[in-house]
Amino acid sequence: MRIPTTTRPLWIAASVAVIAGLAVAGGLSLGSTFSSDPSSSLSAGELEPERQTAGIAPKSDSEMEDLASRPIQTVVAARNGDTLMDILLRAGVERMEAVKAIEALREIFDPRALKVGQKVTVTFERPSHGIGSGPFHAVTLQPDSRRLVSAKRDENGYAVRETKRKETMELVRAAGVIRSSLFESARAGGVPNTVLVEMIRAFSYDVDFQRDIQPGDRFEVMFERFVDNKGQTIRTGELLFANLTLSGTPTPIYRYVDASGRPDYYNLKGESVRKALLRTPVDGARITSSFGMRQHPILGYSKMHKGVDFGVATGTPVMAAGDGVIEMAGDNGSYGNYVRIRHDDRHATAYAHLSRIAQGMRKGARVRQGQIIAYSGSTGRSTGPHLHYEMLVSNQQVNPLSVKFQSGTKLAGRDLNRFQAAMRETNMQFAQLPTTHRVASAKNPPASLLE
Ligand SMILES: [Zn+2]
Repeated sequence: MRIPTTTRPLWIAASVAVIAGLAVAGGLSLGSTFSSDPSSSLSAGELEPERQTAGIAPKSDSEMEDLASRPIQTVVAARNGDTLMDILLRAGVERMEAVKAIEALREIFDPRALKVGQKVTVTFERPSHGIGSGPFHAVTLQPDSRRLVSAKRDENGYAVRETKRKETMELVRAAGVIRSSLFESARAGGVPNTVLVEMIRAFSYDVDFQRDIQPGDRFEVMFERFVDNKGQTIRTGELLFANLTLSGTPTPIYRYVDASGRPDYYNLKGESVRKALLRTPVDGARITSSFGMRQHPILGYSKMHKGVDFGVATGTPVMAAGDGVIEMAGDNGSYGNYVRIRHDDRHATAYAHLSRIAQGMRKGARVRQGQIIAYSGSTGRSTGPHLHYEMLVSNQQVNPLSVKFQSGTKLAGRDLNRFQAAMRETNMQFAQLPTTHRVASAKNPPASLLE
């Protein structure tokens, strides 16, 4: 799916200039905010005014009085196996009150969704006579980074409240030159893990992460980041755009949600990046010594060696390259532990030297593309830990590079028009994003990388 340079969009040329350094990242606020309840857009810690009791130096009598009437709070972290009930009891809440509070809270929070380490704030009223704490007042917790839920006692029992943190989506652009591996360079370039994983997955259909990537190749990405009103990152959103420029040829892909609501990544022609078979059936990020592999005695497809090897550490998950049925799983002589998957009456893939085969992966088992079928190793006749991968057409090993795959879905009609509009929008946003060089991380770049 490489595109001839003549079809290079203009923005590629515009962005090349900024990636001579290693890392470029900038943000553009789109100003879109999400809040189900704008009147109560409080960040955690601001919800309950009484939470600020500790550490405040009183300055006046009225403040003293105010402080004296404020409730007392305890923060309890959920331990492994804890129920919300356990936590409330541990904080000193009476069982009957705890039952009622949890029952009320259930309306907006499933107590079973409590996570280990989650902090639960339990509030008690001030006692009428100075010492200890009064009756249970409220329970507050933050089920995720965006939501705060509480149950507070009132004259009618318990009132629940849900507060959504106001978040703003900004677009972030990052780019860099690949030095050792895409993974390391992208990490150094400030690309968050979730985005990196998505990018590698999207390119795994087309890119052989071991052989296609060369020093000096480049990547560019644009992704969403959600921040609170103080500019703190709440979470990373979707990867919207990625481009790998391999040996001078750009391969841009765009996220697009089709009319049926299914998100996918598409090339410039509106073809899904998904193919029948993966070129890289291991997590591309695990191939950390892509260039170093040139010293490996066995390289790619030859008459002697009928497959491609991926240099990955023993235990790296191996994925089914495509949907299919397992034809063989077990010891296979010099191949060591071996799995072969039949994809259709012509195509099969094989995986060798595995350290172990995943549970349930036996002859006749059905597998889906991307499913983990085994773990790489060095069993059989092997020179060291690696995954040996073969593609078979009509039962003959073939050079995977020679196999042309049909692209997945191709957008058409209104979907294609919408995609093209979205693509233009993405290109414009990307071009407008500020970029900054992180000079410190680009020490002594090889002369060939200086533009
Ligand atoms: Zn091999």
